[in-house]
Amino acid sequence: TKFTDLGLAEPLLKALAAEGYETPTPIQAQAIPHILKGRDLLGAAQTGTGKTAAFSLPMLHRLLGKPRQMPQRAVRVLILSPTRELAAQIETSIRTYAQFTTLRSTVIFGGVPVGKQIRALGEKVDILVATPGRLLDLVDQRAVSLREIEFLVLDEADQMLDLGFIHALRRIATLIPKERLTLLFSATMPKPIREIASAYLTDPVEVAV
Ligand code: AMP
Repeated sequence: TKFTDLGLAEPLLKALAAEGYETPTPIQAQAIPHILKGRDLLGAAQTGTGKTAAFSLPMLHRLLGKPRQMPQRAVRVLILSPTRELAAQIETSIRTYAQFTTLRSTVIFGGVPVGKQIRALGEKVDILVATPGRLLDLVDQRAVSLREIEFLVLDEADQMLDLGFIHALRRIATLIPKERLTLLFSATMPKPIREIASAYLTDPVEVAV
């Protein structure tokens, strides 16, 4: 399979060509068709497998297919990451894949002043990458609204649990519409992750690489 066989929108194929990516990695080949169809997905995959593009490309494709006017400070996609480094890395990748679209992304994480992040959220943002604690701070400050979320991605879910983000995750879940697409990626699939998966995913496709 080539990326050009997957039915992705032209601006995304252009970005992939610009990056020199021709062939999807195994997680991409397995996950992209299901996400394009709107299925929830439980992915067992580590960093380095290409999982960021596996969820970002079909997500961007679906956003492009359904343009929307969003209320002030509302975002369409929330990607949760356990660490600021991973969050920043994911957002950089999304910028690359979205470079020939008008979709906009931003990243928020703890340990730095909030002012710049609040200002960034005041611009039109489609895709928000966040660590759970800082996200809740900014929700409480009304700097961002999760009420219009169409896509939720939990990346490195096992790490998020290990870092003690379970309560934050539960609260975030109550703020997001039930009607949405959810993708969960985890390097390992212990029982607590299975429980999160059954609470937050609807009839998910499971892929493992
Ligand atoms: P990730 O597992 O998402 O952190 O991606 C690992 C690395 O592989 C990143 O540097 C990506 O830019 C790169 N990458 C992702 N997909 C592909 C692909 N299909 N072909 C070549 N490189 C890729």
